[in-house]
Amino acid sequence: MFLMTPTLPAASAAGSLAPFAPLLDGPSAPGLPASAPAAGAVEAIEDSLRSPRRWQPKQVLVTASAADTPHGRAIVARCEAAGIDRIELLRADRLPPLRGGDERATYALAKATLAVVTSAPSARRLAPIPPSADWRLDLAVGCPAHCQYCYLAGSLAGPPVTRVFADLPDVLSAMDTHVGRGGVTSTSRHRAGEGTTFEVSCYTDPLGIEHLTGSLAATIAHVGTRDWPSPVGLRFTTKFDDVAPLLDLPHAGRTRVRFSVNSAGPAGAERFEGGTARVRERLGALRRLALAGYPVGLTIAPVIPGPGWQDAYGALLDDVASALRDVPDPDLTAEVITHRFTPKSREVLLGWYPRTQLEMDPAQRATKRGKYASIKHVYTPPVMAEVRAWFERELERRLPTARLLYFT
Ligand code: SF4
Repeated sequence: MFLMTPTLPAASAAGSLAPFAPLLDGPSAPGLPASAPAAGAVEAIEDSLRSPRRWQPKQVLVTASAADTPHGRAIVARCEAAGIDRIELLRADRLPPLRGGDERATYALAKATLAVVTSAPSARRLAPIPPSADWRLDLAVGCPAHCQYCYLAGSLAGPPVTRVFADLPDVLSAMDTHVGRGGVTSTSRHRAGEGTTFEVSCYTDPLGIEHLTGSLAATIAHVGTRDWPSPVGLRFTTKFDDVAPLLDLPHAGRTRVRFSVNSAGPAGAERFEGGTARVRERLGALRRLALAGYPVGLTIAPVIPGPGWQDAYGALLDDVASALRDVPDPDLTAEVITHRFTPKSREVLLGWYPRTQLEMDPAQRATKRGKYASIKHVYTPPVMAEVRAWFERELERRLPTARLLYFT
């Protein structure tokens, strides 16, 4: 329903916190399986797809300009159909301040909010996004999940509200002036065949909000059907599994869907991923998309080489092989990203998840300096070398069809 109120009542903010409390303290992955599926358990993976993970925000805020667009109105209709009963049509384009009683309450309120907004003109000036793609294209900014290592923490300012862009045609029009230009994958000897690549999951998980936005399906169909002057590749990575709306799209093989996966089970890195589909469910979704002719991929991230990591990641690779065992000639890639953090992301994440068991100790890490004196804490060179050698060897051995795009 629409509520024509320009600001949020304080009572609604406080009242929306309780259901999120379990997600705030330490490892939190409700419904986490006790162990990874046995190799060959494709039937179990199919079972898990019967109820895909769908985020249900507590409130939706729609700016005036967003409500003026056809896509914005379609998003509102989807939210109404999903049974979200607090949909506020704002009188202006400024979002009201979202504040709870303390930092954690503000976090919970923001993570329960979908804002439907229009993009800033700067969104049409695309930036390179190495090593993934030539250009970053944002359909939305923010993510409703609760990963305790989330790379968005420290990258986005303010409370972590998920903002979706209602002016989708304008956002997609930016692709036109960038096709045929690109200095990341387009200039790579191994990847130039992908065409000009556009990554749409830099600042959001687009599949995690797709049931409410429809933006991802529209983008896949746009890329798949447009008569581009030269080849184009769309890319996104996800920790969600609701792929049914994507299966019959005219994708033309131009969209590569990668699933962000990690070691599963009680001791695995998956336990740090609250509010997402479980890894086994993501593998079922990977299989369905591969059968629908999509190029697919694995984003194995963040790799955390804790005790027994070789066995845990070996089981993951075996589960991927099992999920794809009846897919003829899958077009499969792998991207391997080790865990890292910045001083800012560490501070934000420890504020959000104060009892996390995730290791974020700068003293145990090497320091990498980037542009503008930025600092990243990564694993030490001997650890990186060991992990890299293991993945190169085991991908070749357990998933010989997979093409390793990069290790970082
Ligand atoms: S799914 Fe990705 S973007 Fe969303 S919280 Fe987890 S790591 Fe962050």
